[in-house]
Amino acid sequence: MQVYRLPVLSDNYIFLLHDPDRHTAAVVDPARSHPVLEQLQALGAELTAIFITHHHSDHIGGNQELIDRFPQIKVYGGAEDRGRIPGQQVFLQAGDRVSFANRTAEVFFLPGHTKAHIAYYFPPSNSEIGELFCGDTLFAGGCGRLKEGTPAQMLASLGQLRNLPDSTRVWCAHEYTLNNLQFALSVDGDNPDLQQRFAKVKEARSRSQPTIPSSIGLEKSTNPFLRWDFPSIQSAANTSDPVQTFARLRGMKDQF
Ligand code: ZN
Ligand code: FE
Repeated sequence: MQVYRLPVLSDNYIFLLHDPDRHTAAVVDPARSHPVLEQLQALGAELTAIFITHHHSDHIGGNQELIDRFPQIKVYGGAEDRGRIPGQQVFLQAGDRVSFANRTAEVFFLPGHTKAHIAYYFPPSNSEIGELFCGDTLFAGGCGRLKEGTPAQMLASLGQLRNLPDSTRVWCAHEYTLNNLQFALSVDGDNPDLQQRFAKVKEARSRSQPTIPSSIGLEKSTNPFLRWDFPSIQSAANTSDPVQTFARLRGMKDQF
């Protein structure tokens, strides 16, 4: 399974999964249809599945056109998103499994950014690395805003992702990394891993290079929203309570 990263809108990424053996593809969060159709044409592949993480328009905007073009397609999304995702046929819950190519993804239920948000995790298999498609829950260097969920929910959701293997590639849906790391430095400035990452990301963005995918290991060492139990982060938030730490950090970022 090959993953293609398709930039769209001002800072979104669509991810296209390609199965070169079967000449099929699946797409995660198609904000628009045209980049997907172009990539399918370049690969000579047929689209068989749409995997949606949550109902926001910058994640589902291309659904209808893709369904019109590929009537046999299957549209997956969270069970709690019923009625909010165009064409949704499969209503997923925590622990459900979905297959594409020779891989099977596990579904994580991750309320916080929205009440229905899910992620798709393909564990490593044979020579292939683990892949996480986490929408707007975990970002490179940050996390999604709490639009429909509570800090406690988001903390539990991020906690699930933090338990994945360090090598897992993190495919998040927005290129927010530079701004996220600027905020991270304001609360965790003495963290040498963070300083190093910031320098790399700054350089990459100055050349308009993408910073996605990240990895769980890198996020654990540099993303303040995965470090609610570290003394440096707790002291920046002026509390030692994990939920309070997370809530204050999220509040500070909202104002940043
Ligand atoms: Zn969103
Ligand atoms: Fe989004």
